[in-house]
Amino acid sequence: MVDYVVFGRGSYNQLEEILAPQRKDDYPMIFLVDHFFENSNLENNPVRRIPADKNDKIIYVDVAHEPKTTYVDQLSNQLKDEFGMVSGVVGIGGGSTLDLAKAVSLMMNNPGSSADYQGWDLVKHPGVYKVGIPTLSGTGAEVSRTTVLTGPTRKLGMNSDFTPFNQIVLDPELVAHAPANQRFYTGMDCYIHCIESLTGTYLNEFSKSYGEKALDLCRYVFLEKDNWDEVCDDKLMMASFAGGMSIAYSQVGVAHAVSYGLSYLLGTKHGIGNCIVMNHIEEYYPEGVAEFKKMVEKNKIHIPEGICKALSEEEFDIMINVSLGMKPLWENALGKNWESIMTRDKLRKLYGKL
Ligand code: NAD
Ligand code: ZN
Repeated sequence: MVDYVVFGRGSYNQLEEILAPQRKDDYPMIFLVDHFFENSNLENNPVRRIPADKNDKIIYVDVAHEPKTTYVDQLSNQLKDEFGMVSGVVGIGGGSTLDLAKAVSLMMNNPGSSADYQGWDLVKHPGVYKVGIPTLSGTGAEVSRTTVLTGPTRKLGMNSDFTPFNQIVLDPELVAHAPANQRFYTGMDCYIHCIESLTGTYLNEFSKSYGEKALDLCRYVFLEKDNWDEVCDDKLMMASFAGGMSIAYSQVGVAHAVSYGLSYLLGTKHGIGNCIVMNHIEEYYPEGVAEFKKMVEKNKIHIPEGICKALSEEEFDIMINVSLGMKPLWENALGKNWESIMTRDKLRKLYGKL
């Protein structure tokens, strides 16, 4: 679990005092900031209030593509070359930036390439002190014990007890100006986490307690409320947190397993990829998909269609292989006999519909 949490409007202003006791000798604090904020004129742009000391460094990270192991290695090697060691890594941005911050922190203290640690419990040493400050709500990356990376052979996280942040700062003011489409796609990641967790075979009271709360919050913001306001930002930020806690002790399911294939082959981003799949899997989640479609309609969001129509059979095979490799996701969704239910043929048909 995350060691320390602060929540509230304006809580970002506490960052200086949060970081002060973590500064070691002259080692710098590294701020990895979503490149969106580099030239943004937003009044609440967090960059203007970064409490950087003279030794510190701000790096704007490129999240046009989801994080790759090569990018994590490049960033951590650059920091090792320049500073030897750092006091900590602070990630400010959406799920991609938070994952980069977690991975770079781990790679400051672990040898080799981040690709060596894609899997479960392969990380040997704790990373350097790390802080996560989300500027989008939904992924749950702020609380999870993974950091999702695309490596040379697979898209898989560094899942370990050393992966969660030491501190998170949940300030809903930082998500206030996210564009409605992006807010929806990332928000739906949370909604889909809830549906997949709550209907999965891995469900237990821990996951259920958090999942039900997150689902209520998602319903409030995406179905009940007519106009987006501050309350929606507050609630969706807590939904993301609770949704992340829910899947921490269960698992995601069909939408994620299928969307991983899309993202591996086509680079489709996580939130929108999940939405593209969710639109077509009523067979597995009849109520969840019906409600999802209502949310799409009410929020007037466009979900792309036909993204696989020009693909070759070899390309479908690549996606099918990536997807079927996500064994725990399928087992959670369909039970121990999942392999007899989700055959290659069936998955090929499903990809064909997307
Ligand atoms: P993102 O971080 O990929 O960002 C999406 C876009 O929004 C980017 O262009 C970014 O620059 C921009 N952006 C960020 N904050 C903004 C703001 N406040 N206003 C305007 N634009 C803003 O999006 P995401 O959906 O938050 O994260 C998706 C990533 O999270 C994927 O890489 C996925 O693999 C990862 N993920 C991780 C976990 C986990 O547990 N570690 C869980 C789910 C998803
Ligand atoms: Zn997700």
